Amino acid sequence: MSEHPLMPVRGGAAEHPPTSVDPRGVREPSPGGAEVRRPADGPDLHGAPTNTHGRTTSGRTQPVLARAGEITPEMARVAEREGLSPEVVRDEVARGRLVIPANPGHAALDPMGIGLRARVKINANIGSSPTTSSLDEEVDKLRLAQRWGADTVMDLSTGKRITETRRAIVETSTVPIGTVPIYQALESVKSIGDLTGDVLLGVIEAQAREGVDYMTIHAGVRIRHLPLVRERVTGIVSRGGGVLAKWMIDHARENPLYTRFDDVLEICRAHDVTISLGDGLRPGSIADASDRAQFAELRTLGELTTRCRDAGVQVMVEGPGHIPLDELAENVRLQQELCDEAPFYTLGPLVTDIAPGHDHITSAIGAAVVGWHGTSMLCYVTPKEHLGLPDAADVKDGLIAYRIAAHAADLARGNAAAHAQDRAISEARFAFDWRAQFARSLDPGTAQAMHDETLPNDHFKQAEFCSMCGPKYCPMHNVRGVDWHAVERAAAAAA
Ligand code: SF4
Repeated sequence: MSEHPLMPVRGGAAEHPPTSVDPRGVREPSPGGAEVRRPADGPDLHGAPTNTHGRTTSGRTQPVLARAGEITPEMARVAEREGLSPEVVRDEVARGRLVIPANPGHAALDPMGIGLRARVKINANIGSSPTTSSLDEEVDKLRLAQRWGADTVMDLSTGKRITETRRAIVETSTVPIGTVPIYQALESVKSIGDLTGDVLLGVIEAQAREGVDYMTIHAGVRIRHLPLVRERVTGIVSRGGGVLAKWMIDHARENPLYTRFDDVLEICRAHDVTISLGDGLRPGSIADASDRAQFAELRTLGELTTRCRDAGVQVMVEGPGHIPLDELAENVRLQQELCDEAPFYTLGPLVTDIAPGHDHITSAIGAAVVGWHGTSMLCYVTPKEHLGLPDAADVKDGLIAYRIAAHAADLARGNAAAHAQDRAISEARFAFDWRAQFARSLDPGTAQAMHDETLPNDHFKQAEFCSMCGPKYCPMHNVRGVDWHAVERAAAAAA
């Protein structure tokens, strides 16, 4: 893959000073010098790290192994899938520019990579809500999401049966599964005020043992950031960010995920869970885009990125939200600068607020642009965004929109495989090989069904026109078989 001109890949593993990481798993003191304590009702943070499949990591995460010079089977598989050399993948993992969310407890996983040197990835959110959907429906949505090209899936279930739903999803999924543990933590207590650091750590530990590959941790929302959202049009729109803000306001204390971040790191290191640093203060409207609250949190996410890397924990950073077109490139540049090129994982962004019911389109526009400028994974948005829980049709519509956005970004970043795909379908189109055109398209069934609407007979599958222009006007037909030497002679004579 050629390098993106605006996002030069600098340095490599050899230039990245390893390492404050001790591969024996001995943890460093926290910045405040606090000891890691076993919470009274929480997990045993010093016990042998095992998971439901009985495997241990002993703190030998992908970046720890990469910095030791090893090429793991996961790195080799990512290299194969991306068309990169295993050494490049290892060096990018060591450097922290590529993450491979691969909890050893996730038996069905086919490892994939997220980072600047890889193709742009897309995530689909699924999950039950307290009022809608069932376990079977969510597993069906997982299968649908995989069928339509989701590279990762986040299970955002709330309400009852969270654990069973997640276990069924992890068991079935060949793509990495992400979660937002604070949702389950909130389900386990009566109200937000009852949440504790121990409860949060207990849920993170339990999900890590079950094989969850990456987790959104909203540790960057600090109490000192909260006054910055006061004048916003839409306040706080992140569910996790909103819960933590209310907790901090009620208790007049710092975010427990921030104060206990070393404990979070210890669990994630034990199970090689990739941390996805949540953007709890992301803007929820164009009016709030790129404001002081958003960037104050981003600076904290930069600090936390360093702490993850120092602990040998894989990390990516989540981003907005709602951002107008002209601010997208700067948003990516700032994240890459403040977070030392950690993979950026954005929700959309939506480039306007005016189209509820069609926000897969408003957000895919932003997603394509941020992908072009260096975002590594795009969280899809469905047409149901802001309006309700997506159903199967919404999941498909959202994924198709994001496959297009990611592919457009790959083209802009000079990805050779992406260019070959475009060339192949264009050649079929110009040859009037309709069946090859359908087969090479993102959504063959829809492409053929639309052709069939007006020209259903087999005979028309070789026709040198379609119903758009008709046989007389079809310009591709009209220039087929042209003698280009004669054209050149005529053009020269006329000059
Ligand atoms: S008729 Fe028009 S739209 Fe159809 S194949 Fe020809 S050029 Fe393309």
